[in-house]
Amino acid sequence: MKNTLFDLSGKTAIITGCNTGLGQGMALGLAEAGCNIVGVNRRPPEETQRQVEALGVQFLAIEADLGSTAPIAEILQKTEEQFGTADILVNNAGIIRRADALAFTEQDWDDVLDVNLKSLFFLSQAFARACINKQRQGKIINIASMLSFQGGIRVPSYTASKSGLLGLTRLMANEWASQGINVNAIAPGYMATNNTEALRNDPERSKEILNRIPAGHWGTPEDIAGAAIFLASSASNYVHGHTLAVDGGWLAR
Ligand code: NAD
Repeated sequence: MKNTLFDLSGKTAIITGCNTGLGQGMALGLAEAGCNIVGVNRRPPEETQRQVEALGVQFLAIEADLGSTAPIAEILQKTEEQFGTADILVNNAGIIRRADALAFTEQDWDDVLDVNLKSLFFLSQAFARACINKQRQGKIINIASMLSFQGGIRVPSYTASKSGLLGLTRLMANEWASQGINVNAIAPGYMATNNTEALRNDPERSKEILNRIPAGHWGTPEDIAGAAIFLASSASNYVHGHTLAVDGGWLAR
């Protein structure tokens, strides 16, 4: 018997920042479940596009810099031109800047908040408006962090953005749940991607982190694909405003 609970055949997902890392892992996971993918990136995500198309679904590449809200209308418009509508939005694009709080610059504050929170909110708003206008169900998945729950160190704007995102996920869920839109988040633990390269290259920090992960190893982009499929599919229709940790047990310590 076909498992329809997790089936995404015929659906379309917009995923921001899917040329690499976790975004790429989720694009491949959703594509394997039958979903067409709209990849929003600063540069053509050639490898992701090739891998997604090899799974027999369509891939539309949209070039956009989410450091500003300017490209948002065009992202929705191009998606609608090709697929009619988008059913799923994965807000994955994110950046991090590391410096002591005492030395942290306004530029490093603004750059991170603009991508991680401001563009995320206005893209979600545009997606939700389109779903409501068309009276269609929608699924929004925000990529949060362990620093949605914890303070972290030397990453003030990142912590502010990801802690803010946990609250914003709840707010959007409160306002849009009754209109058929599920808004949830995934909080990845320590995953081996560009985002954590500096930590993994620092022998002391890397050892400290590994010693604290009950699973005993860094996560991989494939590790969050299952959570993304769940939150994108009808299996999660009554799940609203939740932030799901996929962290090898980190928060359980
Ligand atoms: P990554 O650096 O490989 O991916 C970040 C993605 O965001 C890339 O595709 C990048 O091109 C895109 N991006 C950045 N700025 C952009 C902009 N201005 N416009 C458009 N796209 C932009 O790192 P990753 O670990 O895969 O990060 C993906 C998400 O996961 C981020 O939101 C990150 O904060 C979050 N996260 C990562 C970890 C981890 O351990 N790796 C942990 C928690 C949360």
